[in-house]
Amino acid sequence: MNYRKRFIVEPGAKPRLAKIDPSYRGKHESEETALPEIAKEVARIDRLQYLLYADASQSLLIVLQALDAGGKDGVIRHLFTGMNPQGTRVFGFKQPTPAELAHDFLWRAHAHAPGHGEVVIFNRSHYEDVLVVRVHKLVPRSVWSKRYELINDFERILTANRTRILKFHLHISPQEQLARFKQRLDDPARHWKISESDYSERELWPKYLEAYEEALALTSTERAPWYVIPSNHKWFRNLAISNIVADTMEEMGLKLPPAHVDLKQICRRYHAAEHKSF
Ligand code: ATP
Ligand code: MG
Repeated sequence: MNYRKRFIVEPGAKPRLAKIDPSYRGKHESEETALPEIAKEVARIDRLQYLLYADASQSLLIVLQALDAGGKDGVIRHLFTGMNPQGTRVFGFKQPTPAELAHDFLWRAHAHAPGHGEVVIFNRSHYEDVLVVRVHKLVPRSVWSKRYELINDFERILTANRTRILKFHLHISPQEQLARFKQRLDDPARHWKISESDYSERELWPKYLEAYEEALALTSTERAPWYVIPSNHKWFRNLAISNIVADTMEEMGLKLPPAHVDLKQICRRYHAAEHKSF
């Protein structure tokens, strides 16, 4: 399956999230049959991230957005099984600090954007400023409504500096969210993950869907597309995202740089070194 084609939010189109099946799992019945494919994608990412780091002239930014328990942490763990920690970073967008609030909303996103050779994952992102901020009316409409264009401009700056941007919305159903809340309650190892806000935010589900739909419609562009990933099945989510990441990196034309030494001369030095003992 061409996962990119299947899950992309076409630029200019408005997705109807309620019409997208969060339990979709393609041709696979279960995780077992998908495992070899997942392993193949992880191996591709491993090879491509090595090239991206060596090439050091381009960057990759992966944006993850989801409602609580949507699986952002799981995606991060999965993607990084195929990457060398050197050359990768995660930045989590928490409630803004006073210093962050004193600046424009893109300041912290820009500060943590990837440099050349780097892969950065945003766990939540600058999109919170048109999602939670809109839903909770933390700023007036006249302020948040201008942010979509500012986000597009910001992302244009990053791509002009040779950063590829991929944005994923992890789409789960309210039932699946509740099931995951239950797992957290039942498992002492996950109690630390529970927050009261998980339950109060859940009440606002329709408002979040509305805010997500508008954000996806106004900011999915050729250069920085959004993908809506059916995420009720964690293994399918991982398969689709790792395939999209690998296909995109494949397109970046990453190549090993040439040696920056004279190899013939270095070979002579190597042979000389072989014959010298200390
Ligand atoms: P988990 O899903 O595992 O609970 P999380 O991403 O929710 O992780 P938390 O530390 O629980 O991490 O929550 C961060 C909170 O900060 C979220 O509720 C998010 O909506 C909020 N937040 C992020 N950016 C902003 C912003 N610009 N303005 C207001 N709140 C924000
Ligand atoms: Mg949370």
